[in-house]
Amino acid sequence: MHERRTCALCGTETVDHVVLSLPPTPCANEFVDKPKDQARYPLDLQLCPSPRCGHLQLAAVVSPSTLFDNYVYASGTSPSFVQHFSNYARRAIDLLGLDEKSFVIDIGSNDGTLLRQFVDHGVTRVHGVEPARGIAEIAESRGIPTTVAFLDPAVALDLRHRFGPADLVTANNVFAHIGDLEQATSAVRTMLGSRGVFIFEVSYLADVVEGLLFDTIYHEHVAYHTVRPLVRFFDRMGMTLFDVERVPTHGGSIRVYVASDNRVVSPRVAELVKSEEAAALFSARTYESFGERIRTQGKRLREHVASLKDDGWRLCGYGAPAKLTTLMYSFALDANDFEFIVEDSPLKRGLFTPGTHIPVVGPEKLAEVSAQRYCALVFAWNYYDNIVAGHADWSGLWLNPLTLERLDGEGS
Ligand SMILES: [Zn+2]
Repeated sequence: MHERRTCALCGTETVDHVVLSLPPTPCANEFVDKPKDQARYPLDLQLCPSPRCGHLQLAAVVSPSTLFDNYVYASGTSPSFVQHFSNYARRAIDLLGLDEKSFVIDIGSNDGTLLRQFVDHGVTRVHGVEPARGIAEIAESRGIPTTVAFLDPAVALDLRHRFGPADLVTANNVFAHIGDLEQATSAVRTMLGSRGVFIFEVSYLADVVEGLLFDTIYHEHVAYHTVRPLVRFFDRMGMTLFDVERVPTHGGSIRVYVASDNRVVSPRVAELVKSEEAAALFSARTYESFGERIRTQGKRLREHVASLKDDGWRLCGYGAPAKLTTLMYSFALDANDFEFIVEDSPLKRGLFTPGTHIPVVGPEKLAEVSAQRYCALVFAWNYYDNIVAGHADWSGLWLNPLTLERLDGEGS
């Protein structure tokens, strides 16, 4: 682990500009096969003080090998994500006029879910870059050629030599994970043809602040993006950020369009920058009050949980996403509060949550305990409606930890 001293986007010194400190946690995806001591790392955020930037970033950068060794997330396991990527591919194909001769590279390609959508829509020349070997092998087995690596200049050059220039490079939910954004962006430029376009999707800080989605702050997410700093960054890198859209992924994301040539810039870009300034996203005070809102919400949730227990409810969790770890530590919840956590993806079942060591079990557990009164705290709140709808016959209680929205199951 090392501490960042400068802004990843503009180089301004940030070391004395910590604006938010959450309790230290283990790596959010470090689910373990048996309870054991796990190292905890600080979760402090720095706000770049440059009046033309204002990028928000994690102060502590944990080495990627520590973070990704135990990586157990696979995008294809969630049906709504597959649909999202299908729409995404179709839109990119229309916008850029891609066809069977076009070449598409996806960075952080995971199990190949997005590239599969391009192939299914006739764009068959695709290549993935994915550091987690196990997940890359799943992609390969589904016919998506994948290089097992972190994106770096050597990997970019190798792909350029082997396959020629790319018409499109995509990166989804990875631009928040990369410590060295300059190096990653030049690598993207190396791979792109002169008229090529880079599209990336990343969680949008405006939505995080507005919706109090603080649990999306964890060590894998080293950067919390807004549009204003990115416009200047890409300009400095010799590229043009020419369009941006807000999309609902992960509680609110932006899809950013960047060209390696000059393009007419959509008025949407200036509009979003204006709204970011109006929301004071570049002011330290915004994050002080954000911290206060987190503490208030934690207090409300603990009181709510305590009163449920007084009323005879037993507690479990639903969903074991990475953000569960930040939520548990920030709200001071632990294994005394939860008996088990139900997870749909088989990859995490049989493991224990990072640091708090709550057993992760499959959804069949709900049927086993149906005779008792259970309340399920939905850690995967971005799938709250899907989860509740998918268990319509369950008699327990559902609770959204961020809104305290509460739904009674059938029998209650
Ligand atoms: Zn900056």
